[in-house]
Amino acid sequence: MAEKTAAHPETFEFQAEVKKLLDIVIHSLYTEREIFLRELISNGADALEKYRHQSVLEEETFDSHLPLEINIEADEEKKTITITDTGIGMDRGELEANLGTIAHSGSKTFFTRLAEAERKDVHLIGQFGVGFYAAFMVADSVRVQSRSCRMDDQGHEWASEGAGTFSIAPCPGIRRGTKIILHLKEDAAEFAREATIKRIIKQYSNFVSFPIKVKGETVNTVQAVWAKPKSEITEEEYTDFYKFIANGVEEPLFRLHFATDAPLAIKALLFVPKENFERLGFGRTEPGVNLYCQKVLIEQHSAAILPEWLRFLRGVVDSEDLPLNISRQALQDNALVAKLNKVLTKRLLKFLEEQAAAEPEKYTAFWEQFGIFLKEGAVSDFAHRPEIAKLLRFESSKTEPGKTVSLADYAGRMQERQKEIYYINGPSREAIEAGPYVEAFKRRELEIIYTLEPIDDFVFSHLGEFDGKRLLSADRGDLELPETPAAQEAEAEKGGEGSLDQEAAQSLAKWMQEVLGPRVKEVRESKRLVDSPAIVVNPDGFLTSSMERVMRASGQGLQEFGSKNLEINPRHPLLRNLAALREADEDFARTVAEQILDNALIQAGLTVDPRILVERSYRILERSTKGS
Ligand code: ADP
Repeated sequence: MAEKTAAHPETFEFQAEVKKLLDIVIHSLYTEREIFLRELISNGADALEKYRHQSVLEEETFDSHLPLEINIEADEEKKTITITDTGIGMDRGELEANLGTIAHSGSKTFFTRLAEAERKDVHLIGQFGVGFYAAFMVADSVRVQSRSCRMDDQGHEWASEGAGTFSIAPCPGIRRGTKIILHLKEDAAEFAREATIKRIIKQYSNFVSFPIKVKGETVNTVQAVWAKPKSEITEEEYTDFYKFIANGVEEPLFRLHFATDAPLAIKALLFVPKENFERLGFGRTEPGVNLYCQKVLIEQHSAAILPEWLRFLRGVVDSEDLPLNISRQALQDNALVAKLNKVLTKRLLKFLEEQAAAEPEKYTAFWEQFGIFLKEGAVSDFAHRPEIAKLLRFESSKTEPGKTVSLADYAGRMQERQKEIYYINGPSREAIEAGPYVEAFKRRELEIIYTLEPIDDFVFSHLGEFDGKRLLSADRGDLELPETPAAQEAEAEKGGEGSLDQEAAQSLAKWMQEVLGPRVKEVRESKRLVDSPAIVVNPDGFLTSSMERVMRASGQGLQEFGSKNLEINPRHPLLRNLAALREADEDFARTVAEQILDNALIQAGLTVDPRILVERSYRILERSTKGS
């Protein structure tokens, strides 16, 4: 094909962000320069998908006889590489907007990710794609000749050296689609070698669903892997396909390949990656599953086909029940898509449950990375809550540190009289075990789940129950624990010895309530405490102290005080002493009562005013050191 040259160019400035991006691309990204080809091929493939979609919707398109493919030519002597697609093409306005600004997903995401990734793992940048501007990693000048598929377009050439400006000029007589001509930099001459080009295509673009031809010979696989029977796909092919769609370098953690006919005809190939990039601090993960209908791409990275909390999945879903000409905008409201979403989610949840049983260690690795997404699902996805609940894992008083149980494990080993599932939140296992909330459970040998993340209590409160058993936080005021054999034994050993009698305890509680006034709702004698003097509990069963802390931190105005009950332990020497001190020196006894409440609030993870606390504790220390 003879190259056309453009006449009468008009010059434009790149948008400021593009200039910045180009500066980074040209001067700092050397490590993975070969991905420029992946980026340009994938733009070409997108353009071909768009054309295919467009040609279903519209009656007449320009050059409709052209085969849908990508051609790559190179000239080692002239140091050029040319990538041509017969896709949807761009008219003048599109060339100016698309290749002069960062308005588009790929490069825009790259830009924000780059800022986030600064000083992090630079090789991860390849995961996100640089888009068209990647061409300037290897080229000192780039020309883009393009002609839209619309009948009224004549063809234009865009040209730039990446240094702040670009030009556009008419370029009549060209075919539909886009031709990108790169003049390679001195140190990038290797990319004009046929063998290099073929290797790069094989490595990054093997599964592009249109032929990629080098000198007329198709280099890639083209075939839709997900549509083939499982028995005809090798492990290597699966892994390569995963790497292709996820831009990944590693193998996936899990793979689910299935086909159904009812209630919908679906072919799906889904992958769970090894790593959660959100967890690594790369910002919010975008959905990564592409929606096809009979091997025609309907929507890339579809947000409609899976719930948002499954955005970490990568893969392909193909359903021939979808209308081929469905517009992307209509996907969100389409009833079939909603049904597809439901079927896929159910199937995936079942798959994960099977994996948890069959490969517990692998599942643990999954849980560590992606557990947070399941928790998000438990809170946000009402329809799938019971299935998600089965997949949750937590540490408990009966696990070793760092090991977890499922709610089903817990339920399966509950004590005879136990009817409920208990949990308590804390910043760490050690903090929980040293605190007052677990005493009553230890004494009864009741298992209690440790919820170590702030979101956990929201998860439990949304679930409400598991397998018919209520999920109760150990800081509830109305908690009534079953009398297990272990508790009875402990009781028999200790007896009532050393305790304030009931009358004295009640009188002390009443007095403390007066002293503490509006800071508490009620002061009561505790039935749950064993070794600690006092504990703060929530009379309102719904809100746990941990949830309260989160909500306060997020500025949701909650009343500071007066919403808690203080339970006191009449067996504890401190309370016995306090009963006597109240008679001897009521003023000082008040100071002690205030301190007991503050200490209990701190143990509940709630904040108290440190100035008041410190000042008061000095007063107490001063008195206790007097005369020594
Ligand atoms: P992204 O592909 O992530 O949107 P790019 O910077 O790679 O970002 O491309 C910007 C836009 O330019 C694309 O969204 C597309 O509209 C257009 N474009 C790029 N390459 C082509 C091509 N080969 N054919 C048609 N349009 C293209």
